[in-house]
Order: sequence, then structure tokens, then C-alpha cells
Amino acid sequence: MRAFDFDLFVIGGGSGGVRAARMAAQHGARVALAECAELGGTCVNVGCIPKKLYSYAAGYAESFAEAAGYGWKIPEPPAFDWQQLKENRAREIKRLNGVYRSMLEGARVQLIQGWAQFVDAHTVRVDDKEFSAKHILIATGGMPFVPEVAGREHIVVSDAMFDLDPFPRRLLVVGGGYIACEMASIFNGLGAEVTLLQRTAHILNGFDEDVRQFLAKEMSGAGIDLRFNTVIDMITRQDDGRLCAMLSRGQRIEADTILYATGRVPNTAGLGLEAAGVATGPNGSVVVDAHYRTSVPSIFAVGDVSTQQQLTPVALAEAMVVVDALFGKSRRKLDYQFTPTAVFTHPNIGTCGYTEAAARMKFGKVHIFSSEFRALRHTLSGSHERTFMKLIVDQASDRVVGLHMVGADAGEIVQGFAVAMRAGATKADFDSTIGIHPTAAEEFVTMREPMPG
Ligand SMILES: Cc1cc2nc3c(=O)[nH]c(=O)nc-3n(C[C@H](O)[C@H](O)[C@H](O)COP(=O)(O)OP(=O)(O)OC[C@H]3O[C@@H](n4cnc5c(N)ncnc54)[C@H](O)[C@@H]3O)c2cc1C
Repeated sequence: MRAFDFDLFVIGGGSGGVRAARMAAQHGARVALAECAELGGTCVNVGCIPKKLYSYAAGYAESFAEAAGYGWKIPEPPAFDWQQLKENRAREIKRLNGVYRSMLEGARVQLIQGWAQFVDAHTVRVDDKEFSAKHILIATGGMPFVPEVAGREHIVVSDAMFDLDPFPRRLLVVGGGYIACEMASIFNGLGAEVTLLQRTAHILNGFDEDVRQFLAKEMSGAGIDLRFNTVIDMITRQDDGRLCAMLSRGQRIEADTILYATGRVPNTAGLGLEAAGVATGPNGSVVVDAHYRTSVPSIFAVGDVSTQQQLTPVALAEAMVVVDALFGKSRRKLDYQFTPTAVFTHPNIGTCGYTEAAARMKFGKVHIFSSEFRALRHTLSGSHERTFMKLIVDQASDRVVGLHMVGADAGEIVQGFAVAMRAGATKADFDSTIGIHPTAAEEFVTMREPMPG
């Protein structure tokens, strides 16, 4: 039998790759991990973590504005120091990079810095060195996609938003997905004048229709200028340094920064997949079976490079399935049906399970329960922000198959409900659960009257 340098060679030190490498090594496997940038990948460096930190920063603006209703006298308008926030964020991310490094080193994973490329089904090259492995895991993630537009050299993608210099007083966000909406909310909260351009009639494709409309209303109410059915024809830089976007309808928008948050594509270019014979899909994603095996039996792929649900916890879960199958004792499949997720706009979205439209297609008859109200906090805060909640129940089984919320801490609230939904909770179970009073979350267990129709 051929002797390999490693049992597992992982390409990519992001969410999926780090988890797979560490867990495989803990099973006693000889593991190497190649990373061309910082450990932690998208989530730690330019995704979930810095984004959430900046979302907290933006939230203080609301808190300062609302404090007067609770008796606090804040004499001056509070000043925001962008440089300070960037430095503090960079320090925390560096700390996390170090935590990842020591976790991997502690598990005896061999770390290799550099760009990895396939040589064949069992061999990877990093710079001028070749490494052989019994199994290879592709965990190279994704990267921003920007459509062709004249003046493209003037725009930025989400990776650049955390270190902009100077702070963009006027920000134009192009796109209507969750990253576009989150960035719009964050920079609006931090004091920028924000316009969001979406080429279709709604934001957040794939989310429940009521949620999409409700959030759009809240974002507009918070001061974001949302423009639908609009595309940019050309971007130019003016003599004063400002950018100018010419819109298809003849209007123009000036901005200091133009962010294109127009989707992400799998990171497979330059990986040498052809050399190993790994099949890819139409958008370059690695094609895998239900056990994350590619068209080449020794090669697996997890996370954004191959998955349909591009989320950190999904990448982690897929990595665990691969490791358990290769080095543990269990061979299982993931069920993606009730993956909960949040959008850290202001207010947040939390969602789990089916949208109303998808539930009607899948289950036929459904009951819809929904509620919209002003949260207790805002009775004194002076804020006009409202909260929205919706339950979708399969009539035949009484099972709650969709749960959606737009409101403060929606992500925190929905996580717990996701456990109940995975366990098959019915509407009767929700109804017999005692609420926690006074909270917004109790509304989910007290909605009694389905919507007519
Ligand atoms: C702005 C933004 C916000 C997000 N917010 C959230 C959120 O709130 N919640 C959530 O769950 N998800 C969020 N995500 C998505 C989340 O970051 C990804 O789903 C997750 O990071 C995917 O993990 P991964 O392991 O597949 O890839 P990544 O984390 O992207 O890691 C891939 C790694 O591979 C390295 N690499 C690539 N090619 C090579 C090569 N040839 N050789 C060596 N190294 C290579 C890259 O440098 C990178 O470090 C967000 C993403 C973005 C962009």
C-alpha cells in the first residue's frame, strides 16, 4: 500500500477547514492544513465577527438616542471615533487568529502557509513543495462577485468595508442580499448617509415575503434610502475625488464609497481541480454527494466552496460529518431543512424553516399566525421601531414548519426555537409552553388566531 505524508490534507484554514483539521487530528490522524492568508477565514477576518462587532457599534447610536426617554441626560451629541473602532476590531481579530493557531498546533496539525494547488488525486503543491495525503479536503470558501460595470475599478467589496479610510460620509450599497442590508444598516447607524440600490423590487431574495417587506419599511424608517428596480450604468470619479454613479433611469448619486454586495462565488480558480479530475458545477462550485465526497473518491469538499447554505455553522457541521466518516465511527447525513439563520440588520431578522410560499408548495394547507407590535422598550424610548413575528404551521401534522422574526435580538431568540422545530414541535406544543413575561419572545407562544384564508 502507498505510504502518504498525511492521512488528511486540508486546503483552507477557515471555518470548515480548521474544524476538520482539528477534529481529525484529535482522532489520531496525521493532518496538514494549508492557508494562504490569515487563519479563521472569511468569518473571522472579513465576515461574521467583524460585521457583528460593527453592528454592536452601530447599535450604540440607537441607544444614545433612546436614553433620554429613560431619564438619561446626555449633554453633547456623542462623538464616534472610526479609527478607534477599526483599531479595536483589528486587535480582537488578531487575537482570534492566534487562538486558531494555538488550537491547531495544540492538536498537532502541521500548518503550511501558502497557496495550495492540486497535483493529482493524492498530491498537493504549496509553493515548490509537494505533499501526499490519503484524503484531501477542499475548504477554500468563497469570494465576492461583482458584475461587469463601467468604472468597476472605483468600487469596493465587503472585505474592504472594515478598514475604509476615511469613514464614508456618503455610502452607496449595491445589492439586496443579507450582506448588502447589514452593511447598509451598520453604516447608517455609524452616521453615514446610506443609499441602497436593488435591481429587483425587493430586498432579501429567499426570505419570507412579509419579512422582506417589513424589514424594508424599518430600514427606510431608520433613514436608509432604498431604491428598487434600479441599476448602475457607469461609475466615475469626479475632480473633487467623490464617486458618481449614473443610474439606468438617468439619475445620478454621489458617494464617497460604493460597495458592491452582489453575491459570492466559490473560491476554486487556480486550485488546479482539473489536475485531480474534480468536477465543478456551473458557477465553479465543487460538486459533492451527500457525504461531501467529490467526483474523485479521495477528495472531499465542505463549506462555501460547495454548499447551498453559505453559513459558518453549516461549514462546521459539514466538516464534522466528513471527519466522523473518515476517522470516527459514524456515517451520517446532514439535514438542512431547519437551519436557523439571522440577519444583523437594525432591527435583526431571525428565521428558521420554511417561508410561507415554500411551505404552501411543500405541505399544501398551512395556518399562518402573525403579529406586529411596538416592543415594551420603545414605549419610553421614543423609537418608532416595530417588531414582527410569524409562524407557519402545517395543517395536516400541526407541526411548526416556519418561524420568522424581525426585531431586537431576533437571532438570539430564534436559536432556541430552532431546537424545538428540529425536534418536531407542533403548534399545540407552542401553545402549551408558558411564556416568559415581559419579553418579545413570549409572543411566539401566545399567538392563537390564524390569519384568515
Ligand atoms: C460580510 C460577511 C458576513 C457574514 N456573516 C455571517 C454570519 O453572520 N453568520 C454566518 O453563519 N455566516 C456569515 N458569513 C458567511 C461565512 O463567513 C462563511 O459561510 C464561512 O466563512 C465559510 O467557511 P469556509 O470554511 O467554507 O470558508 P472560509 O471561511 O472562507 O475559508 C476559506 C479559507 O481558504 C483559504 N484559501 C482559499 N484558497 C486557498 C488555497 N488555494 N490555498 C490555501 N488557502 C486557500 C482562504 O484564504 C480562507 O481563509 C458571512 C460572510 C461575509 C462575507
